[in-house]
Amino acid sequence: MSNSEVLIQTIGLKKNFDDLKVLKGIDLSIHKGEVISIIGPSGSGKSTFLRCLNLLEKPNEGQILVEGVDITKLKDTKKFFKKNDELTLDKVRQKIGMVFQHFNVFPHITVLKNITLAPTLEKGVDEASANEKAMELLNMVGLADKAEVLPTTLSGGQKQRLAIVRALAMDPDIMLFDEPTSALDPEMVKEVLLVIQTLAMNGMTCVIVTHEMGFAKEISDRVLFMDDGIIVEQGTPEEIFDHPQEERTKDFLSKVL
Ligand code: ADP
Ligand code: MG
Repeated sequence: MSNSEVLIQTIGLKKNFDDLKVLKGIDLSIHKGEVISIIGPSGSGKSTFLRCLNLLEKPNEGQILVEGVDITKLKDTKKFFKKNDELTLDKVRQKIGMVFQHFNVFPHITVLKNITLAPTLEKGVDEASANEKAMELLNMVGLADKAEVLPTTLSGGQKQRLAIVRALAMDPDIMLFDEPTSALDPEMVKEVLLVIQTLAMNGMTCVIVTHEMGFAKEISDRVLFMDDGIIVEQGTPEEIFDHPQEERTKDFLSKVL
């Protein structure tokens, strides 16, 4: 895995909210095709780290390298001022799909429109191709029969599968999941985890913040344990779950396993 191409690298990433130091220097290389789970107690900075990766939060210090470019230096330029091959913040964000705990789908437009909106508006994909791709993706997650309904009629698990498909419709290089099953009723967790597992097995690069330890153990190439704004320990699932080295990791796992 470490031989493959690095998609995103963070170097000394720090983030404060006023006096609160939330990320205290995160160094991480995410390789193409890699599946990384991030575990750790609430408030340790997991969400903030994911949000920094596509600059939903602006880091205070450190670098985020995408294709060798430090994206923390990119300006939020208007689309028509861009040169075609220039790496802009819009383009970086298009490469990074993100799925949150609370399924943020648009309630007032159909499932299909939810999926085709961004590709047609932001990438200039024509309607027919966007629809075709959307139907393929809906098929993959078992929602093809829901294309014309409004998301308000969907269950939580179905909404989250839609949120995943919506992100995938932009053809991202990497998918970030922030506790994608935490807001779901227990019987719906599995259907969402299965979709993520399928993506991972098909080679999608994934970073997943999760409290589903069994899932993290099964699916990950690498597990990171974060606490208090740092990566305390990282390794294979076996190393982290079966043979943790750090006291803080052992303590956390003893509470959640
Ligand atoms: P985790 O996802 O591991 O639970 P977060 O990254 O959400 O942790 O939060 C880490 C810390 O940063 C928490 O103390 C949280 O209250 C604080 N925090 C997160 N976002 C903000 C914000 N926008 N403004 C102020 N404090 C924040
Ligand atoms: Mg969080």
